[in-house]
Amino acid sequence: IILLTAGVYIGRAPRHRDVPFSDLLTALERGEVTAVRAAEDDVYADLESGGTLRTTAPTGYFGNNPELFAALARNGVRVEVDGASRRLFNGLALLLGAGVLGLVGFTAWRTTTGRIPSVTGRTKLAGKGQPPVTFDDVAGVDEAKEELREIVDFLREPQRFAGLGGRIPRGVLLAGPPGTGKTLLARSIAGEAGVPFLFASGSEFVEMFAGVGAARIRRLFKDARKHGRCIIFIDEIDAVGRSRGSQSLSHEEREQTLNQLLVEMDGFEGHGGIIVIAATNRQDILDPALLRPGRFDRQVSVGNPDLRGREEILRVHARTVKIGDQVELLRVARGTPGFSGADLANLINEAALIAGRAGRAAVEQADLEAARDKVMMGVERKSLQLTARERVVTAWHEAGHAVVAALLPHADPVHKVSIVPRGRAMGVTMQLPDTDRHTYTRDYLETQIAILMGGRAAEQ
Ligand code: ADP
Repeated sequence: IILLTAGVYIGRAPRHRDVPFSDLLTALERGEVTAVRAAEDDVYADLESGGTLRTTAPTGYFGNNPELFAALARNGVRVEVDGASRRLFNGLALLLGAGVLGLVGFTAWRTTTGRIPSVTGRTKLAGKGQPPVTFDDVAGVDEAKEELREIVDFLREPQRFAGLGGRIPRGVLLAGPPGTGKTLLARSIAGEAGVPFLFASGSEFVEMFAGVGAARIRRLFKDARKHGRCIIFIDEIDAVGRSRGSQSLSHEEREQTLNQLLVEMDGFEGHGGIIVIAATNRQDILDPALLRPGRFDRQVSVGNPDLRGREEILRVHARTVKIGDQVELLRVARGTPGFSGADLANLINEAALIAGRAGRAAVEQADLEAARDKVMMGVERKSLQLTARERVVTAWHEAGHAVVAALLPHADPVHKVSIVPRGRAMGVTMQLPDTDRHTYTRDYLETQIAILMGGRAAEQ
């Protein structure tokens, strides 16, 4: 835009000579002028002999000078006047063009040089000013904690290990489904060892501009080195750590970033006390180079908690809310198979909200059950208009499930039957196993099928 506008200007502007105003008057009087172009105060006069004069006329000279116009017209002089608005418009267009170009240039500069705020600003020193997270805040992942305790020992007393000449682990990969406490574990290592915790997310390193991700990795490790002993946590490392060259997903920028990460991890001395902890829920797609000894050679799997783990997690989170004396958290734990730590934290929170809404002083068992149902099956659909017949049919249907489940020897005990519609279900029959099931027998599965068909059978 700028070039075009400038081109028009330059192409139009003839060469001219700057002269005093009196010269213009003289030239006019002598009849040497063939054309006059006035643009606000500037006046251009084309001469018969060729060439152009430019001068500055007194304000309003042309506009308020009827005799002059008459004289000019008599002499056959062409008169052109550029309005102020047109010049303003041209000026604005030029300014706008320059602005856009400047912005583009600035953005490109910001994102390609190492000094961009988005590189510097992203290294988050998490948890500053908050009480440190400790292993006590993480429950139900005892094996993982056991493995990670070693890292804590190393961060606390690096000399003890260095003296023996052993190679200190540099990277730990926490693998497991979302919400199982991977971030929490990493933070608790930092908390236990009393070292800073630098947080980054894998997706931050994947940018449109080549080289930015790598620059951010460099920056991250530079910051880490400043702290001396510290923990770098990279969440969702699969965003950068995908196998290189994996067909269509292959991506120059990501490869560059991954390479930089590998270089940095190889580069720092084990004694430097920087430990990289990464989390992923897609360990299968990680580049094997990442998992090589000397990099993320420790792999700790963090799974969904079992019954006892769920109870412990509930207990951890129950510390933050007022819980009634009668509450049995084990019951809640039994009713929440497959829940992750985050789900359980959410459940406690929902229960507190429900109790608060009901105006109770403490969270009771019923609140926890209501919260569980809500988290598990969605909110009650009170507004759903049901005919009496539909209700009866649902009642028969659920009763069918319940009776079959109650009578068959291999079925899990029936916990609750409801015909309140929730989410997409019209009603529900809930069974609670006494323990978490990891394998299923033929009898158990046949019983399940019988229970499922019991609903329809009862309707008939
Ligand atoms: P991830 O990183 O595995 O996706 P997070 O560590 O971010 O999961 O967990 C989210 C939240 O869930 C935590 O802040 C915590 O409140 C709760 N949580 C998850 N797992 C646990 C656990 N094992 N013990 C206690 N709280 C947990």
